[in-house]
Amino acid sequence: MCIFCEIANGNIPANIVYEDDQVLAFLDVAPTSYGHTLVVPKQHTESFLDCNPALLHHVMDVAQQLSNKLMNNLNCDGINVLTNVKEAAGQTIPHFHVHLIPRYEDSAKENVKFQFGEIDKIDVEQLVSNIIR
Ligand code: 5GP
Ligand code: ZN
Repeated sequence: MCIFCEIANGNIPANIVYEDDQVLAFLDVAPTSYGHTLVVPKQHTESFLDCNPALLHHVMDVAQQLSNKLMNNLNCDGINVLTNVKEAAGQTIPHFHVHLIPRYEDSAKENVKFQFGEIDKIDVEQLVSNIIR
């Protein structure tokens, strides 16, 4: 059983901040910022790609509600809401989860590094037709 299934089943402890019959949210064990939270469907599903749409919508509803709580109650200055899909994108736990990463102007409260560099010139028309085909 995967580690997030173990948490959802109560076999491994977690610091839970939200729970209903389908979704659980708990603090990340290795937080990259103060309040780093994971929103997880209780049912095992590998990633964003294969989560059934109704459950996905519910996960995102909870993610939005919790994001507003983090903004209001932790006084963060922003939040990164993200999900990693597959190892190549940094997914280490193969059970769908959404990261809520509060961001702070106060650098003592976070240790986050995202870098969006730019790739070399591409054929945009070709790219669009590849994506939509
Ligand atoms: P991923 O890299 O798959 O997008 O994110 C997995 C996240 O789960 C990481 O941020 C990692 O710190 C967190 N994590 C891994 N194992 C545990 C655990 O046992 N408990 C909790 N609360 N978080 C975990
Ligand atoms: Zn699982």
